[in-house]
Amino acid sequence: MREPVSIVIPVYNERENFPELLRRCLAVGRAMQRPWELLLVDDGSRDGSADLLERAALDYPGEVRALLLNRNYGQHSAVLCGLAQARGEIIVTLDADLQNPPEEIPRLVAAMDEGLDVVGTVRMDRQDSLFRRLASGLVNRLVRATTGVDMHDYGCMLRAYRRRVVVAMLECRERSTFVPVLANLFAKRTGEIEVRHAERTLGESKYSLWKLVNLQFDLLTCMTTTPLRLLTWLGAGVSVASIGFACLLLALRVWFGASWAGEGVFTLFAVLFFFVGAQFVGMGLIGEYVGRIHADVRERPRYIVERSLGRGLMPIAETSNSERCFVKS
Ligand code: UDP
Ligand code: MG
Repeated sequence: MREPVSIVIPVYNERENFPELLRRCLAVGRAMQRPWELLLVDDGSRDGSADLLERAALDYPGEVRALLLNRNYGQHSAVLCGLAQARGEIIVTLDADLQNPPEEIPRLVAAMDEGLDVVGTVRMDRQDSLFRRLASGLVNRLVRATTGVDMHDYGCMLRAYRRRVVVAMLECRERSTFVPVLANLFAKRTGEIEVRHAERTLGESKYSLWKLVNLQFDLLTCMTTTPLRLLTWLGAGVSVASIGFACLLLALRVWFGASWAGEGVFTLFAVLFFFVGAQFVGMGLIGEYVGRIHADVRERPRYIVERSLGRGLMPIAETSNSERCFVKS
């Protein structure tokens, strides 16, 4: 059985790229020879893109669905909106600016057919500025180290997800998030393929430096609370060092006499460092609580039950759908 595929695309001020995007996506979708749909999410565009999306949904009702958001919520929120509405078993996301060629979608779907939960992509010969490439290399290394998931290009939104992973992602109640990292929290079998990457020929990037920095913070906070713990370690380090400093001062004072110690100014520094360190420890501890509150507020599912076997004491009513069974604790 060839599983149905949903293609989700967030669109924000992409009027120039849209006709070509639609044409290529329709061609790719129809050639897949399986049930499919194209979900276009307008993220509050101001350039008339929404009208084009509406037109497309009217022209191709069995294939294209348009979701128009009332304002700009950001790429990841728009993608999540599309994921919430997608009906396919395999859900593919990509950008609207044609930097991700839609022709790569069948290769992702073929990889998913092998039974993977998530398929990521690595952009070959990436067509972005040097700054963007360097920053992205650094972030990818950080994410790999933190999550332990061996994926190489989190910035590329051309990805495929299995429905059960998407359901778990949608159960998360956080507002700021980074979809590819979130997905990996719930994926067991992940894969990665190399894809082509094109230069943006029409329109311009929607990410200013400020928005990019914001996005990195979303990524960081979605993935880990380690920076909070670092505060505790930093504080403890400063405090311990200040005790060593005080011992050194004492020894030198005994050695060189009272006049050497700058009338107690150095001692004051040692005392100061100790309390500054202690403050950091305090902040770090508060951070540990904040981190846990943050985790609770996000209400992420604790686990996904992949299959439930055997009957035990009571007959289980709905076992037919058990493979998709999603248990929220
Ligand atoms: N996008 C969006 N909302 C935003 C910013 C971007 O839906 O607030 C969409 C945009 O239309 C495109 C994708 O996200 O489909 C990636 O945006 P862009 O190409 O500008 O990012 P870059 O390639 O520069 O990282
Ligand atoms: Mg782009």
